[in-house]
Amino acid sequence: MPPPIPKTADTHAALVIIGTGMAGIGLARALRRQGDTRTITLISADSGDEYSKPLLSTGFAKRLAPEQLAQRNAAALAEELNAQLVIHTHVEHLDMDNQTIQLSTGQQLGYDDLVLATGAGPHRPFSVPEELAGRCFTVNDLDDYRRFHAALASGPARVAVIGAGLVGCEFANDLYAGGHHVSLFAPETSPLPRLLPEPLGNALGNAFKEAGIQLRLGHSIRKISPGHHNDIAIELDNRDRFQADIILMATGLAPRIQLAEAAGLAVTNSGIQVDRQLRTSHPHIYALGDVACVDGINAMYIQPLQASAKALAATLGGSPTHVHFGAWPVIVKTPLLPVVAYPPSTQPAQWRIEGEQGEMAAFAEDKDGRLIGFALTGGCVRRKVELSRAAPALLG
Ligand SMILES: Cc1cc2nc3c(=O)[nH]c(=O)nc-3n(C[C@H](O)[C@H](O)[C@H](O)COP(=O)(O)OP(=O)(O)OC[C@H]3O[C@@H](n4cnc5c(N)ncnc54)[C@H](O)[C@@H]3O)c2cc1C
Repeated sequence: MPPPIPKTADTHAALVIIGTGMAGIGLARALRRQGDTRTITLISADSGDEYSKPLLSTGFAKRLAPEQLAQRNAAALAEELNAQLVIHTHVEHLDMDNQTIQLSTGQQLGYDDLVLATGAGPHRPFSVPEELAGRCFTVNDLDDYRRFHAALASGPARVAVIGAGLVGCEFANDLYAGGHHVSLFAPETSPLPRLLPEPLGNALGNAFKEAGIQLRLGHSIRKISPGHHNDIAIELDNRDRFQADIILMATGLAPRIQLAEAAGLAVTNSGIQVDRQLRTSHPHIYALGDVACVDGINAMYIQPLQASAKALAATLGGSPTHVHFGAWPVIVKTPLLPVVAYPPSTQPAQWRIEGEQGEMAAFAEDKDGRLIGFALTGGCVRRKVELSRAAPALLG
């Protein structure tokens, strides 16, 4: 039986990691794997349960209850990592001169090295009336998924998904597969605008439409308000009105930079600025995962954060190591039409597109015709390995 999670932290740890997402846990695990014995404290604003975030947008199709998504609870994780876990606790302040952090419990905690793995939080571009707050959701961690799952437990509902990026499209597909009536709202004219050129986005949109997902694209939300008969009324900028029972906001994620910014670390809207060794602008403070902008790149995907955890573990272990990000494409979990994309990091001179309907391959090329990115749909996704080999690394 793992020991219970303590209510307060020890007053000092050799390494403090803020965040128990895949980045924070991945780093602690990499350190222990290489035989590191220093004291480690992990602090989390959430439950600290270990889960795979990508599975959150597959749970309805697979009929997965939230407890099935938790791979390990916080107590078991603390035991496995031989680390202290402090959960449901916010780090409110960072004092870099005295190497201490202030917790929401009122406690102060000292560190020798500090790692910020605070992830990215949902961005809400518009407000929702107070009386509808309990029916408007964002799903960015397991605790959010627990609440969202409970709200949909009583049977098929009309779910309005707002936002047609990766998270919005994956949830639209997943909720549809889970038996709900889904509408997808976004100001852009085709799904996955940051990953796919428009013809491929339209192919995904067509697959959604054929399945019965309603597409409400090309217009912004003007207002969300209580409607008749307990409906939620959604009004668009062209005054069209729609009804829903539940809203899922998938309107983007912003790196949680506030703690670092208030402390005086170098940050931009893309994240905490770190070098190739994941070092921030202050000695003894590092950052990785969705919160970190590594040498100008914040990829916000699993493979880069795994590579970062490995490199940082080596650096902290005494072998300074630069992280490298390969040409790792994003696999979008939309079974209605499989999508793989490796978006170009600079504006391409052209997108060359082959194929039609759902079977398409798009090649982003620079002015000399060199491949700098690609996007694939349907059966063409099997070309991802060959094209990844030909494309330039994200961070070479
Ligand atoms: C629905 C969904 C599906 C996805 N699917 C894929 C996919 O298929 N493939 C892929 O590669 N990527 C996918 N991603 C992206 C991927 O999941 C993320 O890049 C990754 O999980 C980020 O991990 P992280 O540890 O950096 O951040 P997070 O998981 O967000 O963890 C942040 C941690 O910091 C804690 N925290 C934040 N602020 C504080 C504070 N002040 N005090 C204390 N604790 C704090 C939080 O409680 C949390 O524990 C998906 C993302 C979503 C939302």
